[in-house]
Amino acid sequence: MMRDAAQFDPTDSRVTRPAFWGTLPERWTSDVEETLVCCHVRQETHDVKSFFFRSPQGRTFSFEPGQFVTLELEIDGEPVNRCYTISSSPARPHTISITVKRVPDGKVSNWLHDNLQPGASIRVLGPGGEFTCARHPANKYLFLSAGSGITPLMSMSRAHHDLAEDRDIVFVHSARTPDDIIFARELELIAASHTHFRTSFVCERLGARTAWPGVTGFLTLPLLKLIAPDFMEREIFVCGPAPYMKAVRDLLDEAGFQRKQYHEESFSFETLNAGEGEALAEAPAQADGEAGSEAGAETATFKVTFAKSNREIQCGTNQHVLDAARQAGVRLPSSCAQGMCGTCKVKLVSGQVQMNHKGGIRQREIDQGMALMCCSKPLSDLVIDK
Ligand SMILES: Cc1cc2nc3c(=O)[nH]c(=O)nc-3n(C[C@H](O)[C@H](O)[C@H](O)COP(=O)(O)OP(=O)(O)OC[C@H]3O[C@@H](n4cnc5c(N)ncnc54)[C@H](O)[C@@H]3O)c2cc1C
Repeated sequence: MMRDAAQFDPTDSRVTRPAFWGTLPERWTSDVEETLVCCHVRQETHDVKSFFFRSPQGRTFSFEPGQFVTLELEIDGEPVNRCYTISSSPARPHTISITVKRVPDGKVSNWLHDNLQPGASIRVLGPGGEFTCARHPANKYLFLSAGSGITPLMSMSRAHHDLAEDRDIVFVHSARTPDDIIFARELELIAASHTHFRTSFVCERLGARTAWPGVTGFLTLPLLKLIAPDFMEREIFVCGPAPYMKAVRDLLDEAGFQRKQYHEESFSFETLNAGEGEALAEAPAQADGEAGSEAGAETATFKVTFAKSNREIQCGTNQHVLDAARQAGVRLPSSCAQGMCGTCKVKLVSGQVQMNHKGGIRQREIDQGMALMCCSKPLSDLVIDK
């Protein structure tokens, strides 16, 4: 039945539309509005949930598909930060979602699964990150992911779908079993709606299923050649656990794939920065365009004191404090090591640093004496509240 327009009362709170509809609200930035509200939780697989957030002020989100946010939580009285890729599409800017896989004994992933409910407020920093197809336009892409590494590629695929782009995309996702494939039905729907979007799932084993039309085993070069015979012409984006990424790099090396068409993101940057299997990987960008610590060069050093743990180390004027701390065996929480994620944020009790961050800290926090250790070089002796 058609609704009689005369009966519609826009002041009736039961029918009032959300504030943002039909308007162009301001953009959300974590500098202006630090908290977001969880508005929906969706179980994706037995150990993966998506959490949806909106701005309490109705602001919209602007990000590139593949970028991440950092959640700033307090668990058991301890501040703890973790990065999560935005899995939603930038073309649906009124909410963002993250998709989190439980990590056995992991502090934050399990806390989110067990505690984060619609209505809860959460401090969020970002978005940041450079792993995005938006910065590498191409006509043909190959997305390779494993496990929760699907999230940045899902955001890229959702954006492709929402913007009705007619790019040629082959998306090959690896999972333990068919029941572990995150977003399986949605990916199939996207593939069904676009002539040039193809998906392929590779499962290690069958798990509880007895029938599975897809491939079982691991991604190999012969298998990749079968799925995407023209893969050498494609711009490749890869995300997954470290062993998977190493296997992909090895098989692409074997095929002689061009380094400049290859892009990867690890969910544990430490592994990448340790230099494991870097053959194809893009070198992590330096925050300030200089070389990091110049091994062997004669440089002055400053004393860095960690007040709470009562440790003292020396840090070269040309060295990032995080690197000096690691070399001296002092463990500091860190993630991206590029000034983006904010995980290594500390309070400087005294001293000055030269910091070249990429959005991982708010101006307000810098004014309050906070600094990111991964991209800060000492300008004096330092005392750190750690
Ligand atoms: C850019 C980026 C994007 C990411 N995007 C996503 C995403 O979209 N989805 C997603 O699920 N994850 C993502 N991650 C990973 C995420 O940030 C977390 O690392 C992940 O959720 C695990 O965090 P946790 O606190 O649960 O585990 P942690 O508590 O950090 O533990 C991780 C592992 O280390 C072990 N461990 C912890 N402490 C110790 C110790 N003292 N000694 C020995 N072992 C220890 C734990 O047992 C566990 O196996 C991303 C990471 C990055 C850097």
